[in-house]
Amino acid sequence: MDIKITRSTHLKEKPDQNHLGFGNYFTDHMLTIDYDEGQGWHDARITPYEPIAMDPAAMVLHYAQETFEGLKAYRNPNGDVMLFRPEMNARRMINSNARLCMPALPEEMFIEAVEAIVKYEQDWIPTAPDTSLYIRPFMYAAQPSVGVHPANSYKFIIILSPVGAYYPEGVNPIKIWVEDEYVRAVKGGTGFTKCGGNYAASVAAQVKAEQKGYTQVLWLDGVHRKYVEEVGTMNIMFYIGDEIITAPIDGSVLPGVTRDSMLRLLKDWGYKVSERELSIDDLMEAGHNGTLKEVFGTGTAAVISPVGELNYKGDIVTINDFKTGPLTQRLYDTLTGIQWGKIEDPYQWTRIIK
Ligand SMILES: *Cc1c(COP(=O)(O)O)cnc(C)c1O
Repeated sequence: MDIKITRSTHLKEKPDQNHLGFGNYFTDHMLTIDYDEGQGWHDARITPYEPIAMDPAAMVLHYAQETFEGLKAYRNPNGDVMLFRPEMNARRMINSNARLCMPALPEEMFIEAVEAIVKYEQDWIPTAPDTSLYIRPFMYAAQPSVGVHPANSYKFIIILSPVGAYYPEGVNPIKIWVEDEYVRAVKGGTGFTKCGGNYAASVAAQVKAEQKGYTQVLWLDGVHRKYVEEVGTMNIMFYIGDEIITAPIDGSVLPGVTRDSMLRLLKDWGYKVSERELSIDDLMEAGHNGTLKEVFGTGTAAVISPVGELNYKGDIVTINDFKTGPLTQRLYDTLTGIQWGKIEDPYQWTRIIK
């Protein structure tokens, strides 16, 4: 792929690495590739990070034909720049796009684009502990039209944001609100895709949870409101008795890269791992009878989030005395160790950008 580069004439000052937060700063450049029906992907370019001029009839603004991805670049102790399983993000975007009738960006092109912009902006990869460069690829329908049909032109863009720990307080248990009124996804819908529309539909529940003093929402299945599915931006796992349970990937749950990686680690460590339905009643019961040992959310942004409290219709369960459990900690240490290149990577999950 030929990528044309236009360098910014006024580079920004880098933010303080100790107060990055999540998603507050953006780098000097972005990468864009255009798509037009009949022509395919064309005009890959790195340009200064700047506002996008858009027709007010651009279809994304009306019917939300938009998908995105999220991954990170890490600086290892040798100073190399590393990605974690970027092919999983490339494939997931292809699957998301297929559901939204958007064109596929080939896997090799996705990875080449990510590598090109990260390499170009590598001075922005922070080096302080637990920091990384968050990579946000996204694609949207650019065709000006207010007819409801798939657009014939799209833009694929990558922006980058240096980030610190997702939760500034560190890896501490969070409180989760089990949502029994709103639903996030149903089978046959778009739950398995990373599309902006899923999030637009979820913020009402998030606001409600925050008003009640909870950090995130635990979604129940959209039909029975009975089976636990996932958290706002994370998959979720429950350690009950001798079994670790997480919802199966069957249409309404997002297939997380972190989820997949954790399941692999757990299996290799000899745990009994089940991708199966778990009802909220069985979960609360396990919380009350003492068999619920640990609960944790998994996602690229936070890596792992221990859950210390669940509230379902006013019934409250406290997990592991509101402390991070040993299994949660071990998963966090191992996965972040691999991601930051501090420990050996027996799975060949990491990829050094040459
Ligand atoms: C992105 C996302 C996840 C986590 O996926 P990762 O690939 O692990 O970052 C989980 N649930 C939802 C709804 C998401 O959007």
